[in-house]
Amino acid sequence: MLSVSDKDTTSFASEESPSFYNRVMKTAGTGIKDLYSGLIRIHVLHHACEEGIFGLGMIQELRRHGYRIGPGTIYPLLHGMESRGLVRSSFAWISGRRRKVYYGTRAGRRVLAEAKKKVRELANEIFEHDRKKHP
Ligand SMILES: [Zn+2]
Repeated sequence: MLSVSDKDTTSFASEESPSFYNRVMKTAGTGIKDLYSGLIRIHVLHHACEEGIFGLGMIQELRRHGYRIGPGTIYPLLHGMESRGLVRSSFAWISGRRRKVYYGTRAGRRVLAEAKKKVRELANEIFEHDRKKHP
């Protein structure tokens, strides 16, 4: 919120009681998903470029990082990335199962490199702000 005045920020902060927070989280479920969808996409592309991924493995990896997403989300996401040329798939046997494994393409690596710059810049800004608040 770049254009919010100090007064507005203060009045918002006073509304941040636990019940207010719960209400927001409950009603803004889809909005929160939108907030994290870019992070999830970058995370998926990262692993596809690093070692290759398959749907279930990526669901478990994301779960490990605190994102609860299911097959109904991950497969369309992977198919979308493939149709845009960011990843390509091939079949492989993993622990006795035939899996469709997705690997980052050259274009995918380029997109990831750009995204990493943006993630670093954002992280620096967010944590710089924290450092100023809690030196
Ligand atoms: Zn990861």
